[in-house]
Amino acid sequence: MREFNYKNGTLCCGDISLTEVVKEYPTPVYLYSYDAIMWHFRKIQEAFKEVDPLICFSMKSNSNLSICKALVNAGAGLDIVSGGELYKALKVGCSPKKIVYASVGKTEEEVKIAVGKGILFFNVESLPELIMIDTIAGRLKKKVKVALRINPDVKADTHDYITTGTKEKKFGIDFKTAEDIFDNPNKYPHVLLKGIHVHIGSQITDTAPFSTCIRKILDFVDNSNIEIEWLNLGGGFGIVYGDEKAATAEEFAKAIVPLVKNRSLKLILEPGRFIMGNSGILVSKVIYVKIGSTGKKFAIVDAGMNDLLRPSLYNAYHKILPIVERQSKKEKYDIVGPICESGDYFALDRELPELIAGEYIAVMSAGAYGFTMASNYNSRPRPAELLAANGEIRVIRSAETYRDLIRGEKILKEMK
Ligand code: PLP
Repeated sequence: MREFNYKNGTLCCGDISLTEVVKEYPTPVYLYSYDAIMWHFRKIQEAFKEVDPLICFSMKSNSNLSICKALVNAGAGLDIVSGGELYKALKVGCSPKKIVYASVGKTEEEVKIAVGKGILFFNVESLPELIMIDTIAGRLKKKVKVALRINPDVKADTHDYITTGTKEKKFGIDFKTAEDIFDNPNKYPHVLLKGIHVHIGSQITDTAPFSTCIRKILDFVDNSNIEIEWLNLGGGFGIVYGDEKAATAEEFAKAIVPLVKNRSLKLILEPGRFIMGNSGILVSKVIYVKIGSTGKKFAIVDAGMNDLLRPSLYNAYHKILPIVERQSKKEKYDIVGPICESGDYFALDRELPELIAGEYIAVMSAGAYGFTMASNYNSRPRPAELLAANGEIRVIRSAETYRDLIRGEKILKEMK
């Protein structure tokens, strides 16, 4: 993680020491680095510059308004998957002409609003959805651009829950159905079939699944004489969480660009994790160190699975670093949260220098699919989000309060 390093024995974000940050901001707290976000965004821009793609940042990875705004200001479009993300995308002033909309379950209401706002296109995931969009566009007397999301049946070596491009998954349309749709555009008079979308999964660290997928899509285009304007390659570029190897932006580009550069297609990329994953951390305090009856040591921290779900949901690996560096003998710990679930952990049997109650740790690589997956489970307010920029820390989302926990709830009259 470029911007998060030990300096003089304390973990810093840029030049800002986390020991200072925790004096001012209660934990748990997310901290992002503006420089890291921009560095990752520009890495993709630079690597793919020969084909000048529209880079639509995937808001599901992190939809904080300041972060989306920073990326939009840097030239990004946005990849959205809900009416809520559309609302936030428009709030940050993203041009609708740079918004693409995926999701297998867009509702009529969501489609109506997105059509009204004039987004670039819908990534359509099924025939019934196409019919619905066509009907709504007809009612609104509009012609709406769509890309068909094709499920290419390409397996990427990633967690099953974030594998999306194999035929047993709910995502996208099979080649045969797509061909039928492209062959019969008159059946959908209010949509313009302008593109193809693919997204085969997330945290894909190898370039091969992307090449295989693109070759399959281009063979399909060539063999069925389809005319498209846009090719949306989705997201999925993987990052380094631990000791694994992940292809760099240049390596992804080297595998992808030669396949597409001589075609008169406009390209879209929808990276999320690549931009945000290693641009943020979750800082937490050790509340207790407890020794279980088997002798196992538990470091019980003040962040839980409600704050960062990835380890519990995917058994995902996150590095954990004490914010004050030291050389003490390493011991094995389960780093666990306060939630009433045995799956509430950040690491199991992890070797770390001795942990002491009251000290702070950082759960690294938590900038993507961290806060966006946070919940109020166990009636825990969600944490604040901070952004380090220009040598300063700023709050970009306040921590929730207990009052936030009951917003919208009512005690029925007869129960009073
Ligand atoms: N595009 C679509 C359609 C997705 O479903 C996702 C994530 O699931 C992304 C883009 C972003 O993927 P990643 O964060 O791996 O780049």
